[in-house]
Amino acid sequence: MSTLKSIGIVGAGQMGSGIAHVIALGGYDVILNDLEQSRLDQALALIEKNMMRQVGKGAVTESEVNAALSRITPSTELSALANVDLAIEAATENEAIKRQVFENLCKHVAPNAYLATNTSSISITRLAASTDRPEKFIGLHFMNPVPLMKLVEIIRGLATDQATYEMATNLATSLDKTIANSEDFPAFIVNRILMPMINEAIYTLYEGVGTVEAIDTAMKLGANHPMGPLELADFIGLDTCLSIMQVLYEGLADTKYRPCPLLVKYVEAGWLGRKTQRGFYDYRNGAPKPTR
Ligand code: NAD
Repeated sequence: MSTLKSIGIVGAGQMGSGIAHVIALGGYDVILNDLEQSRLDQALALIEKNMMRQVGKGAVTESEVNAALSRITPSTELSALANVDLAIEAATENEAIKRQVFENLCKHVAPNAYLATNTSSISITRLAASTDRPEKFIGLHFMNPVPLMKLVEIIRGLATDQATYEMATNLATSLDKTIANSEDFPAFIVNRILMPMINEAIYTLYEGVGTVEAIDTAMKLGANHPMGPLELADFIGLDTCLSIMQVLYEGLADTKYRPCPLLVKYVEAGWLGRKTQRGFYDYRNGAPKPTR
């Protein structure tokens, strides 16, 4: 267990709720923040459902779940994070939004509180520069779904100090996660490798090389991937996939990272994958059906 007691999480989407889940089960107090109460209500319902699924599998007991749920305090106000030891930002993958979150957060949290971001791709050094404490700022990149995925990527910005790095590694270890250290380059390790593969799968669809089903079947059975790349893109969120490709394209200034126009079109349509019930598959009625 680390020395942290109370942890704030900003953004209660797929990742913020998953991070709240593991952190509350890990024995920490959690203040979960989002813009709207409805988002927080959805997040709490999802956390409870997923924890009860773990009870069904014998991974945790019902009394541990009840104790964990009672440790989570939802709030739409950032002022509720005034006493946290660490705030983890898990808001939408958009640099302007994240910078605004950190500027506002710094007005509310104590001067000695640590700050972390769950960004999939954006420069830790640049986000740290939007705060009043770049030395206490770090990238803590959990994987989706957080309760099941073992990895946490840890990314130090240029100014991150050793105490902050140790805080982050102690926290991840206390949550029974395995750490991979990454330097602060666009999309770090996992998404630098994964996202161009997903983007290439979307080009393969765009050029008519294969259908949605053929591409996913090919990669599941031909490369032994547990999910096909288009299914995985829907799972991650197509808006997040596009943002990561844009960060790679702009950050590395190489045309090989050009986001596929079909990915852009799906995001423009608001077909963002599972979270909006439609992406490369339609999830609205029973078994997912390909949308092209
Ligand atoms: P999401 O769309 O499910 O959730 C984002 C949440 O942030 C929403 O609930 C939104 O209301 C909230 N939000 C936006 N602006 C806010 C603000 N100013 N204050 C408070 N809340 C705000 O997205 P997600 O998939 O949970 O991704 C969140 C972050 O985690 C992104 O940085 C993403 O890159 C990263 N991430 C995502 C995955 C994945 O597989 N989806 C994996 C690892 C990391």
